[in-house]
Amino acid sequence: MPLRSDWSQRPCPIARGLETFGDPWSMMVLREIFFGNNRFTAIKERLQVADTVLSKRLAGLCEAGLLERRKYDGGQRSRLEYVLTEAGADALPIFNALTLWSEKHLNPPSDQAHMYLLHRDCGQRSNSAERCEHCGTELTARNTSWHSLTRSEQPIPLDLALAGTAQGSAA
Ligand SMILES: [Zn+2]
Repeated sequence: MPLRSDWSQRPCPIARGLETFGDPWSMMVLREIFFGNNRFTAIKERLQVADTVLSKRLAGLCEAGLLERRKYDGGQRSRLEYVLTEAGADALPIFNALTLWSEKHLNPPSDQAHMYLLHRDCGQRSNSAERCEHCGTELTARNTSWHSLTRSEQPIPLDLALAGTAQGSAA
């Protein structure tokens, strides 16, 4: 079920994309998944969001084909976590571009409120959403880390968010 009015039949691909990427909570949920924070309770805690809002976004992102549910062993019973599909992982440059644009044009609320993109293979920061500026390699969830200074002292690799990888961390 679409979250807003249905943009999916519009002639312009930018407009069609807004069906998925025009909703702030959906974007925030996807951000958490990229960071490897992929379980309901942990996402809820990080985003300080109501259960109903989060449930609706997770369901919508699964239905749109960006996320898939995966079972993990939660002790007494198996529980669900969320991982990126290929279509979800392909959204990385959108988030990278949003980060770079905000870093360039918006004043941060504090000195710590910055985020940097790193290519893990060469360890360099990039100011390009698509490619490592240092070595030219395409940035993907497999080879990229996000360094959010308010979140962690160390850059966080994004590959735990992918389907088919070992269990992600839900820190
Ligand atoms: Zn590089």
